[in-house]
Amino acid sequence: MNNTSSGVSIPFVDLYAQYLSIKGEIDAAIAAVITSSSFIRGPFVEEFEQDFAKAVGAPHCVSCANGTDALYIAMKALRVRAGDEVIVPAMSWISTSETVTQSGATVVFCDIDPLTYTIDATKLESVITSRTVGIIPVHLYGQPADMGAVIDVAERHALWVIEDCAQAHLAEFRGRQVGGFGVAATFSFYPGKNLGAMGDAGAIITADRALAERMAMFARHGGLVKGEHRIEGVNSRLDGLQAAILSVKLRYLPAWTKRRDEIARRYSERLANISGIVVPRVAEERKHVWHLYVICHDQRDALAAHLKEQGIQTQLNYPRALPFLPCYRRLEAQVEDFPGADALQRRCLSLPMFAELAERQIEAVSAAVSSFAPSAAQRAC
Ligand SMILES: *Cc1c(COP(=O)(O)O)cnc(C)c1O
Repeated sequence: MNNTSSGVSIPFVDLYAQYLSIKGEIDAAIAAVITSSSFIRGPFVEEFEQDFAKAVGAPHCVSCANGTDALYIAMKALRVRAGDEVIVPAMSWISTSETVTQSGATVVFCDIDPLTYTIDATKLESVITSRTVGIIPVHLYGQPADMGAVIDVAERHALWVIEDCAQAHLAEFRGRQVGGFGVAATFSFYPGKNLGAMGDAGAIITADRALAERMAMFARHGGLVKGEHRIEGVNSRLDGLQAAILSVKLRYLPAWTKRRDEIARRYSERLANISGIVVPRVAEERKHVWHLYVICHDQRDALAAHLKEQGIQTQLNYPRALPFLPCYRRLEAQVEDFPGADALQRRCLSLPMFAELAERQIEAVSAAVSSFAPSAAQRAC
């Protein structure tokens, strides 16, 4: 293996490779923003909001500073308040739960389905109380949650649904894009996401015009007209440079998504029959967009070390499920209550996944994973 001085020959993601593939357009977009000094709001931000709304099939798009703010802003606009309970899946990035607390409400965790790793809709009713106001399903790793079942439960209990689409740009459930099932949906354009800026960026989409206005108002100091502050809000905005960069990248997103799908298929073909490895499973009627390609293995840490020795970078998404994080110690979560999330936190391993991954790299990663499995099986005997 031809290791570089960093010891990494296959990185987990390669943002520079992506930049090089569209360098001319990105450089021109950045120059155009600088030339017109449209750094805050302005035409580039408006154009991206329109382009993104169109790409995901949403009537309204409100851009903001990042995907975490997007969740917070959506909940504030839905008038979440102290005493309310909001249900989130036990496995996600911390943003999904910390913003519930930030908005004044109480976080309630629901376990995940062991097949798709998304919220287990069959367990939702067991955590709903008279204080529950909403559910935030997360399309984890790029696979849509079971939105049919989630919306059914939400409707029966008169709850709102905000879809956390931070990892799922262009994913589909029953032939419809995610983001259109709940009252609102949030996106992150963190650099490593499927559509990533060159800094922080986020957006919220909705079909509800009044809600879109409240969200925009809250994100802009409580007023849409300069100097008019109808409510107290926050300052959370997408800047012109990021918007212009995102508009360029958005045009490539369908092709990049297709490539991620090819890579996932190649990995799965190579790894599916290796004993000890569980490859990701895609449930019926879902289009997975492979933000992450996550395998499971009982000896995950040893497998990760084995790959690292061969210069292959991996990641844990996530090493600890939300209920077991130190910040939620007060909830005294028990492993028995979250068997799905517990199994995943102990066994998950994310392999390199980005559109520019070359065939020989996919082959090298697959071969390295394969070469671990037999010896692990022997050790287990
Ligand atoms: C990345 C991410 C977020 C937060 O996005 P930022 O832009 O980093 O604030 C929220 N939810 C999930 C599931 C994410 O993966």
